[in-house]
Amino acid sequence: HPLLGWREVPVRDVLGARTGLPVHVDGHARALADAERLFGRAARGSRSALHLFAGNMVDAAFATHDEVHHGPRSQAGAIAHLPLAGGTEPCACGRSGCLQAELSELTLCRRAREAGVADGTDPARVVDAAAAGHPVAVRLLLERARMTGRAVRLLTDVLNPESVVVTEIGVVHRPDCLAALRAELDEERAATVAPTSFPDSVLAVAGGSVVLDVLYRDPLSVSPELN
Ligand SMILES: [Zn+2]
Repeated sequence: HPLLGWREVPVRDVLGARTGLPVHVDGHARALADAERLFGRAARGSRSALHLFAGNMVDAAFATHDEVHHGPRSQAGAIAHLPLAGGTEPCACGRSGCLQAELSELTLCRRAREAGVADGTDPARVVDAAAAGHPVAVRLLLERARMTGRAVRLLTDVLNPESVVVTEIGVVHRPDCLAALRAELDEERAATVAPTSFPDSVLAVAGGSVVLDVLYRDPLSVSPELN
């Protein structure tokens, strides 16, 4: 987890030792892809779905039927350094225009601070400012939505999913941002894109889904005392 500076940290073991409880760990995008499958409506009935998560971290997940693809070392969807057309933001990897650098909430909040729109590192304040009619806040959110659309285009060209779910704060809360994202795609593809089903509880739902997915697949496995 580069943002936290964690490398080779055995998160599951550490948390398990601290809590004495079974612990299950997964990335945001995969967890939310599972959440859509279990409780959502954005990808219901799809045989294949792409989920793009743009928070402080940016990652993606791809599911076919009931399986979210993990790949070796669970590295599937690690798209942080894919290059985004038109991107200018310098990235920690030394290049510029990487997906992570362009779409991170940290970048949105920094641009908002520089433009005098909102202080701090909470992207909800940029959304609030836009809702209050601040034109620069609206512009920043629309720009980010367009870049998110380019990321969706890049990923759907490769994966061709039946449906696409996006978790990005502007797209989730503002119809004009969703429209700006869709405008980066051809009409047929644009119609397959929906915001997350969990706009107000994304992170809690992500965590809960990781545990519930394990429980639903194998109920006895989470009650070791019964084995
Ligand atoms: Zn990079």
